[in-house]
Amino acid sequence: MAECIFCGIVEGSIPSKKVYEDEHVVAFHDISPAAPVHLLVIPKKHIASIQEVGEEDAVTMGRIFSAINHLAQEFGLSEKGFRIVNNCGQEGGQTVFHLHFHLLGGRQLTWPPG
Ligand code: C5P
Repeated sequence: MAECIFCGIVEGSIPSKKVYEDEHVVAFHDISPAAPVHLLVIPKKHIASIQEVGEEDAVTMGRIFSAINHLAQEFGLSEKGFRIVNNCGQEGGQTVFHLHFHLLGGRQLTWPPG
């Protein structure tokens, strides 16, 4: 598990700009932001992708979405809106295989994504 970059961020062995942390969840600024606000919200538990989420992760998943709501407010996105993205697997564009949700906002986002 030590080779997982996001597990390293959770443990603190890999630096990140953390903006939120609780018992189950960590959020931090994406190192390569695609919008004025671009945060990643992740479970502390190593879950490789959304496909690995099970019943036992229900509390963690609830905390993730509650943290997203909290952060959207904190970063001033509530009024104009924002986007939550989860890339899953190779064709889904996933590059880090530790479950994460992108929280993007602060500009007009376009659709469909590439
Ligand atoms: O959804 P996907 O797996 O492609 O997203 C991974 C994200 O993790 C990228 O947006 C990348 O910039 C970010 N990242 C990061 N800090 C790292 C490594 C990757 O914020 N140390």
